[in-house]
Amino acid sequence: MARTFVVKLGTSILTDENLALNRERMLEFVRYCARARRRGQRIVLVTSGAIAAGRARLGFPELPRSVANRQMLAAVGQIRLIQIWEQLFDLYNIRVGQMLLTRADLEDRERFLNARDMLRSLLDRGVVPVINENDAVATNEIRVGDNDNLSALAAVLAGAESLLLLTDQSGLFNTDPRFHPEAELIAQVDRIDDKIRALAGGSVSGLGTGGMSTKIQAAEIATRAGIQVVIASGKEPELLEKILTGSPAGTRFTPSASPLENRKRWLFGAPPAGDLRIDAGAALALSEKGGSLLPKGITGVEGNFPRGAVVRLIPPRRGPLARGVTQYNSEALSLLAGRHSNEIFSLIGYEYGPVAVHRDDLILLGV
Ligand code: GLU
Repeated sequence: MARTFVVKLGTSILTDENLALNRERMLEFVRYCARARRRGQRIVLVTSGAIAAGRARLGFPELPRSVANRQMLAAVGQIRLIQIWEQLFDLYNIRVGQMLLTRADLEDRERFLNARDMLRSLLDRGVVPVINENDAVATNEIRVGDNDNLSALAAVLAGAESLLLLTDQSGLFNTDPRFHPEAELIAQVDRIDDKIRALAGGSVSGLGTGGMSTKIQAAEIATRAGIQVVIASGKEPELLEKILTGSPAGTRFTPSASPLENRKRWLFGAPPAGDLRIDAGAALALSEKGGSLLPKGITGVEGNFPRGAVVRLIPPRRGPLARGVTQYNSEALSLLAGRHSNEIFSLIGYEYGPVAVHRDDLILLGV
């Protein structure tokens, strides 16, 4: 499977001193993304800069305090931002798809799955997803708040292998480089502990003025999900090419588990919300052929559960064979049991794809 990289670009590297979007630099990033795609890599872009672009567009030199005014800036700026990304990717004949997310989209299990399926559909189609927070509507209660954390969540959504945080700093240093010229860049972090968190500092002291602490938070989320993270300078766009081709740059955070181990841990940990009885053919497809569970192989549904719940898959005359995340709720599965996947839409009036439990969301027990 193609490797997926989430590339997060911060406001400070996308804008010039007048807050206008720096299209020349954006074009350089696009060029490296286009090359990556020719190598068969998948790219997801997380872009900041909407509020800055809105300020430039409306001639607002000061960042207004009121939520409505900030939202207004985001509404104006986001159009500009996506318009430019669209035009630049179009030079390489690459289509982009805009996703504007809030925390609320990611915390609710069903909405998370919907966002995940949509993001993966874009990637399967060869479209580059361009993601930002939905600043025009998001209020404090439902915001992620910063695009570092948002990009880590996007990397989890995309099932990415790597998250690249490109910023105005070269990476994480062993002491504050502003006051200590001898400060050394830390090339690799294997474990994020209190010492590392302290190096990142708060948002005003330590090294944190450029937002290093939210980057460390993002690195914690991503590495825990089995995703490697690189923090490097976005002022040198050619570093993107270097990182994408496997050369070291900036600070690399090693993932604490493989994505598979991580998923397994989660699937084992979650209490099952119900059971799907499956026939012998489906059991064989799961255990021997690496297949997904289709509605056709389901003979019975037990329990009352939503889409996205963890269920046990139980073949005839034996204990559970597998655990997995269901694409449909129990009510829908009762209607779909034993039926062919091309009947899904006509039976329930909507469709989340042909499988009941996808192979990627499933673990066999005892292996
Ligand atoms: N979503 C914000 C914007 O596009 C940026 C947030 C951040 O830089 O972390 O303006």
